[in-house]
Amino acid sequence: MSLDSLIANTIRPDVRSDKSYHVPDASGFVKLDAMENPYQLPEELRRELAGRLAEVALNRYPAAAYGPLKERIRAKLGIPAGYDVLLGNGSDELIAIMAATCAWQDRRAVMLAPVPAFVMFQRSAQVAGMDFVGIPLKADLALDLPAMLAAIERHRPTLIFLAYPNNPTGNLFDTADIEAILRAQGEQGLVVVDEAYEPFAQQSFMPRLPEFANLIVMRTLSKLGLAGIRLGYMSAAPALLEQFEKVRPPYNINVMTQAAAEFALDHVEVLNEQARLLREQRTALSAALAALPGVQVFPSAANFITIRVPDADSVHAKLVSRKILIKNLSKMHSVLANCLRVTVSTPDENAAFLDALKDSLS
Ligand code: PMP
Repeated sequence: MSLDSLIANTIRPDVRSDKSYHVPDASGFVKLDAMENPYQLPEELRRELAGRLAEVALNRYPAAAYGPLKERIRAKLGIPAGYDVLLGNGSDELIAIMAATCAWQDRRAVMLAPVPAFVMFQRSAQVAGMDFVGIPLKADLALDLPAMLAAIERHRPTLIFLAYPNNPTGNLFDTADIEAILRAQGEQGLVVVDEAYEPFAQQSFMPRLPEFANLIVMRTLSKLGLAGIRLGYMSAAPALLEQFEKVRPPYNINVMTQAAAEFALDHVEVLNEQARLLREQRTALSAALAALPGVQVFPSAANFITIRVPDADSVHAKLVSRKILIKNLSKMHSVLANCLRVTVSTPDENAAFLDALKDSLS
């Protein structure tokens, strides 16, 4: 039997021609490419957590309702009264669940998002069999509202994704623009406000859920310091959340994640303090970058900074040779020509990056 024929006969052509999500090998690098929090939980809390994890019943499936974890999320993370959350194995899984749920089989289903955006929006649309329509951001990285409204009229998207702040640009879209999009969608379509970077923006649509029946707010614990445990959550009108609940794989949050997240949320003030430090370091790093000749710094409300340099490919290659890993955005979209994205880290790592960048620019 030929494996080539087997694959040609079974695997979808669009999947066959695609590549899998590339994660560069970061061993030995100062890793500033993935918007991770550089701080661990303090030693004493980690020891206490180890004791808790030792008690977890690995032989049992997770408790289906995730009651104690959801209770902590509702209480500690500002979910409005009367609203529940749906949990995902990272918000990546929630994006895939939403796409699968809104990809109608018998009519053209469209996902709309500004571009450049978080790449998993488009990937999930494609895998679910939705058409993806991307509306380019303006040169100043703001939403092109007239183009977004025209696309809503023309394509009637079942899902719109807006990251707030946006990745990979770092900016917060105008609140009035998002409200106009929510109103234009009306009962024809949903609007997902992806607040992965909320701890660094401190602005949120979560309290506004009661105002818009078509609003879904999605967040993650990843950027707050728990990227390794993979926990995302989303909230929306209860009747809507119930629909997505039917598509969520049972037991998608494993017992270790559940226990670690409950523990971390009991100490959420520690994570919030780390986010505060990173916001301070963002201010310092932005100022230092802006002082470098030839570097344009875009305003950031996230834990990363997007910059434009004269020759991004060359700067990126030189940084790699100095063992500094950041993201080259140059080829992602024309509005990001010669742009690079760097995660805000500890003062030491930020200084190492700045030093290497100075050398790389010359
Ligand atoms: N949304 C945005 C805007 C992101 O940048 C990311 C991660 N880079 C995610 C969602 C996914 O986060 P996770 O799956 O770790 O929850």
